[in-house]
Amino acid sequence: MPSTDPNCIFCKIVRREAPASIVAEDAVTVAFLDIRPMAPGHTLVIPKLHATYLEDLPDSSDGPILKTARRVASALRRSGLRCDAVNLWLADGKDAGQQVFHVHMHVIPRFHGDGLGIRVGPDYGRTSTREELEAVAAKIRGAVSQ
Ligand code: 5GP
Ligand code: ZN
Repeated sequence: MPSTDPNCIFCKIVRREAPASIVAEDAVTVAFLDIRPMAPGHTLVIPKLHATYLEDLPDSSDGPILKTARRVASALRRSGLRCDAVNLWLADGKDAGQQVFHVHMHVIPRFHGDGLGIRVGPDYGRTSTREELEAVAAKIRGAVSQ
């Protein structure tokens, strides 16, 4: 996996070849405003190294992404922008809604009545039995230890 992708819009922002309103930066990450915000202050936190999916991230990048997201979330609450709460959101893959294929975490300011939310599917609602949960957990545990 190359450390930068010449055609990736977020890599271009890291290289300062594309404009962005940067709000925070450290050695590993950059945070900048989303060009199509869900609310004023909606920020994206990205690793400076190009990684398409979470699985592609080097171990040294995952922690710093959350650290920067926390810093931005705290800043949003103090910023004077409308921000009573915050959602962190990360779409990992096209079917999860990922549109830009360079890992990014959304930091979204929330306030009462903002109308944002996660839509649930038609099968949502019933509380799983312990047996059902254990059957699913066994599959994941098996994969986690691989
Ligand atoms: P995704 O759907 O992949 O989780 O989110 C991609 C986000 O990137 C979208 O919210 C979109 O508005 C934002 N975005 C796409 N292109 C650009 C860009 O060139 N600059 C900035 N600042 N944000 C972008
Ligand atoms: Zn990239």
